[in-house]
Amino acid sequence: MCNTKFQGRTNMAYRSLPKRARRHLRGAPFGPMPVKSVFLDRDGVINRGIGDGYVTSWKEFEFLPGAKDALARLCASGLRPFIVTNQRGVARGRLSQAELDDIHRHMLAELGQANVRINGIYVCVHDEGECPCRKPQTGLFLRAQEEFPDIEFASSVVIGDSLSDMEAGTRLGCWTILITQAVQPDIVLGEARRRGIVVDRVAESLWDAAVRHLLPLPRPT
Ligand SMILES: [Mg+2]
Ligand SMILES: [Zn+2]
Repeated sequence: MCNTKFQGRTNMAYRSLPKRARRHLRGAPFGPMPVKSVFLDRDGVINRGIGDGYVTSWKEFEFLPGAKDALARLCASGLRPFIVTNQRGVARGRLSQAELDDIHRHMLAELGQANVRINGIYVCVHDEGECPCRKPQTGLFLRAQEEFPDIEFASSVVIGDSLSDMEAGTRLGCWTILITQAVQPDIVLGEARRRGIVVDRVAESLWDAAVRHLLPLPRPT
């Protein structure tokens, strides 16, 4: 699925790194982020990750609390969700492409029942150093933009639970939200800062990210 034609664009995206003019906004009072497209990491954001292992079947796939509701509310608010996920378990022979597709078929069906429409799932099935699409590289995002040319990265947000997600978002000039349950997020934020990775917001879960950072404040009913 991924090929070298993305390499040039990846480098181009890297060279055109935004000047971080919005850095100062990180200290601003939290309000809804001005975004239209939402790029979601999968494991640790939508479903429970399995430590260093891989989700290899639908039986092992467990939605995180509030994730489906969060996605439903994002969709209802007109935001467009995409999933961008590294699944090198395929390259390592832990699951086949067909098994991965089966997991995603079930996932989309269950999300559909919750009124969630995912615009696209973009998967890197390669091992490290083999391709231009494994995050923190940007190939998956550029592939989404090829299919949806109206995607603007400056009005997109990347939500993920690892710094490689945040790094991909930084390279593209997206907004970024780091999902972490760390008691001391300062440690990971310090590491991000040292590596020049922008983390615009921190949230405990996708639900937290949605209600606190992405959606207009709920009106009293
Ligand atoms: Mg993850
Ligand atoms: Zn790849």
